[in-house]
Amino acid sequence: MHQLLKDEAEKALEPGSLAPDTSGMNFYRADPTLADLLRIYLPEALFRHVEPHLDRLGQLAGGHLDECARLADRHTPILHQRDRFGRDVQWIEYHPAYRELERAAFGEFGIHAMSIREGILGWPARYPVVAKHAFTFLFNQAEFGLGCPINVTDGCAKLLANFGSEELKARYLDGLTQTDMGKLTQGGQFMTEKEGGSDVGTLTTRALPEGGHWRLHGEKWFCSNADAKVVMLLARPEGAAPGTRGVGLFLMPRFLDDGSQNRYRIVRLKDKLGTRSMASGEIKLEGAIAYAVGRLDRGFVQMAEMVNSSRLSNGVKSTALMRRAHHDAMTVAANRVVFGSRIIDLPLGRRQLMKIALATEQALSMSFLTADALDRAEAGSQDAAALLRILTPTLKFRATRDARKVCGDALEMRGGIGYIEEFATARLLRDAHLGSIWEGTGNIVALDALKRAVGRHGAESALAADLHARLDDSIDVPTAWRDRLRGLTDRAVSFAREVAARNENEAEARRATSLLYHAASAVQFAWEAARIHAWRGDARRLLLSRLVVDHRLSPGDPFRLTENKLQDAIASHLLGKRDVGMAEVGELVLAA
Ligand SMILES: Cc1cc2nc3c(=O)[nH]c(=O)nc-3n(C[C@H](O)[C@H](O)[C@H](O)COP(=O)(O)OP(=O)(O)OC[C@H]3O[C@@H](n4cnc5c(N)ncnc54)[C@H](O)[C@@H]3O)c2cc1C
Repeated sequence: MHQLLKDEAEKALEPGSLAPDTSGMNFYRADPTLADLLRIYLPEALFRHVEPHLDRLGQLAGGHLDECARLADRHTPILHQRDRFGRDVQWIEYHPAYRELERAAFGEFGIHAMSIREGILGWPARYPVVAKHAFTFLFNQAEFGLGCPINVTDGCAKLLANFGSEELKARYLDGLTQTDMGKLTQGGQFMTEKEGGSDVGTLTTRALPEGGHWRLHGEKWFCSNADAKVVMLLARPEGAAPGTRGVGLFLMPRFLDDGSQNRYRIVRLKDKLGTRSMASGEIKLEGAIAYAVGRLDRGFVQMAEMVNSSRLSNGVKSTALMRRAHHDAMTVAANRVVFGSRIIDLPLGRRQLMKIALATEQALSMSFLTADALDRAEAGSQDAAALLRILTPTLKFRATRDARKVCGDALEMRGGIGYIEEFATARLLRDAHLGSIWEGTGNIVALDALKRAVGRHGAESALAADLHARLDDSIDVPTAWRDRLRGLTDRAVSFAREVAARNENEAEARRATSLLYHAASAVQFAWEAARIHAWRGDARRLLLSRLVVDHRLSPGDPFRLTENKLQDAIASHLLGKRDVGMAEVGELVLAA
């Protein structure tokens, strides 16, 4: 692996303050908030168990895996039509750096299997989703492309476990959850067709029954992890109803029992803006053998489960991109000297850093809030299920969109070399643009939040109740501030209801979803601050709550000067390392 190691000559140059970089940073140790949030959500014994593993992943992600990600991004997969003996066997060639990333994610840490299989990393039970996504968060700070195969392998296993027959489970579940790389069978999820990615009901792939299985005919237009061994897909059984009601869910293996390739062809690989390390293909189904999963007339509803857990994963992965961009921007700003000052000491530099930090912290808090709702919903809580219903599209909408901007701003913080592919920022920006497209574009997830979660299921009531309970439970936070947050929560929820109530308000769906996100994150910051303050005396997360209120939930007069002294005081605390108690923070959040 000598090529993956940093060139000694480059090290000898000691770029230092000329081009400060995150190379060698431990992304777990550099992020005390991550540990704070995990301590809030995880039982103490589990936190103590995962911490050394997170520490190791944090170190790898800031060094070796980051270098692998850079190489895998430059040496993209190649589709071959024949093997070396001249047989028509399709295969995809990956750079060794991509294989190394796979070995770490699937083999060493088992991120794909953590919430499904017991015993991963020596823990006797399955991990809660909160714990799993702490690993997702760290891994994706180095490599975003492989984040998709990890997530869809996890999603396929979950679908199979929930809806598959005992026979199918016996054949495929073990491989999907293996950490032995020789036995692992990665998953794929092929839904999108040329006719529609958003409008899934228009899909034209047909399924014809044949004995104990089905034969598939048609084309899938976007197939990430194109050579996955086990694929979940949607197809319309012959004679079934039009629209989403008529589509069934099928499992399609890459290889048949006799070892031959199933009858589908990867026609070509997509030449993508981002996630270039990972192979996304176009696939022709030419009588491929597949097996029905669950009830045929519930195919779309069942697949929606996988889509929703992918949307959460997408939110977490976009948060990871933001945190990486944030680390990068902070490293540059704290070390690069311009006009005789460090960037971090200049007013506009600080303002830009705060913008990057705020969106990143919001996404982190909202990711763990949503993951925790999923854990509680799976444990049987109806309230948590309703909360999850509204939080999932809300997180997916806002965090994936913010990642585009945050990664672009961090790139600019680095100046010209931020635009050059030798540094991570260009890759982060390219990858960030995908988060808001796959598993539902911005419009689609905003409509899901407003029309379905609010309009059809009334899930905003669960959100309001949850946020109020969190404020009631944060008695250390000044009462006046909690009242302010209560009022803003109620306004965001009322606005969402108003938008959802009438079709002619549809164009406001994105704004309403953003307002729910901002109100929820402001409350979360207060709730987290109360907890972190109680055990280690630091209430600074409450300052983020004030920033959300000022910059996201208040009308602004473009001609009025910002209250700079207050904003500077808040920035100094947040950019500094000193813990600050509730009394001092409380004064700042209530300052006029
Ligand atoms: C790199 C990459 C990998 C992918 N991997 C996979 C994969 O593995 N499996 C898979 O199934 N798919 C995959 N996709 C496909 C992705 O999920 C779809 O591209 C996405 O869902 C959008 O569908 P579409 O491309 O058909 O666009 P369309 O659905 O045609 O959307 C076009 C535009 O119309 C807007 N729009 C649609 N409906 C509405 C509405 N009601 N109101 C307002 N605006 C609307 C959308 O927001 C979008 O801006 C991948 C895509 C990419 C880019």
